[in-house]
Amino acid sequence: MNRQRLIAFTQELIHERSVSGKEQAVVARIVAEMKALGFDEVWLDEYGNAIGVIKGQKPGKTLLLDGHCDIVDAVAADWEHDPFAAVIDDGYLYGRGVADMKGSLAAMIYAAAGVDRSNLAGKLAVSITVLEEVMEGAALQQVMNVVKPDAVIIGESTNFALNRAGRGRAEIVVETIGRSAHSSSPQAGLCAVHEMIRLMQALEAIPMPSHPAMGKAQICLTDIVSEPFPGHSVVPNRCRVSYDRRLVPGETPESILAEIQALPELRDIPYSLTVLDGEEKTYTGKTLKGLKFFPAWVFEEDHSLVAAALDGLRSSGFEPKLGSFGFCTNAAYSAGIAGVPTIGFGPGTEPDAHTVNERMKVTDIAKAADGYLGIIQAILT
Ligand SMILES: [Zn+2]
Repeated sequence: MNRQRLIAFTQELIHERSVSGKEQAVVARIVAEMKALGFDEVWLDEYGNAIGVIKGQKPGKTLLLDGHCDIVDAVAADWEHDPFAAVIDDGYLYGRGVADMKGSLAAMIYAAAGVDRSNLAGKLAVSITVLEEVMEGAALQQVMNVVKPDAVIIGESTNFALNRAGRGRAEIVVETIGRSAHSSSPQAGLCAVHEMIRLMQALEAIPMPSHPAMGKAQICLTDIVSEPFPGHSVVPNRCRVSYDRRLVPGETPESILAEIQALPELRDIPYSLTVLDGEEKTYTGKTLKGLKFFPAWVFEEDHSLVAAALDGLRSSGFEPKLGSFGFCTNAAYSAGIAGVPTIGFGPGTEPDAHTVNERMKVTDIAKAADGYLGIIQAILT
């Protein structure tokens, strides 16, 4: 593996400001690199995902390594180094997306290209997917429909632990419905904001379930707005709140709504409650739709994929701990919905993602590639 080229390639990926829905340039760069590195097949699907395939000499399973190439945006003025300049300083590579997850993307691509095909059974695919930051799993679903993997590796940050589980996420919208009145005589109306405050107090006191592999579920308010807004001399007749709900295995759209509907405090509050419907446009003009409910997932410690990946990592010099993703990833689809055995492994830590001065130790990128190579060889030989 050419480590210098791997780092230079990571820097080039950071130069492209690939915010969700605008991944065209970074995907084009990735396709060119996969071709230059000798992948057997490289293509772009209609949603703008890049897929590269390495074929083994013997029949066997199909393993898919997946990473997303979209980023959340960054404001240069807040950063020590320009977030898209990919500056290396004191052993660290700085840039938006280096930890989430362009360092990992580059490592997966170089690891796949470095596999000894003569010893490879089956097929190795690498997918570089779009729109993960806004709709986890939706783009990966399209890739999996075509690639049909037997196992999936998600390259999000695990700090070199092997993740066998992950929390899910849902977006819930609650609205209270009041009655407008002139604010000089508020008793003639029903203030939707006051009703919402009562509702929120009850809702946020609901005890959250927990899971031994990933800890507690949680609920976090993300926005609140009243109507009309701004309100001039009027009692607001509507108030809308969005919640981000982090999920543990077993929770469903129905179950997370039912626990709210069952609150006795809400009996006399007029309200509506839904899990949000999502719709996002890809840079190719296609639409990805789906409920904003991305389930949690877990595989047992002795699952054959977990065991094989552990062996592979050990043979590459790692002593990995088993872990769980606290954030939501594309595995919400591969494992949570499709039920395909999935694990996570990657450089960087979860708190590195979406931060000002996001950075990664330069040596961790090649170290990740070594880890991927170990896992690939353990599964596809
Ligand atoms: Zn990510």
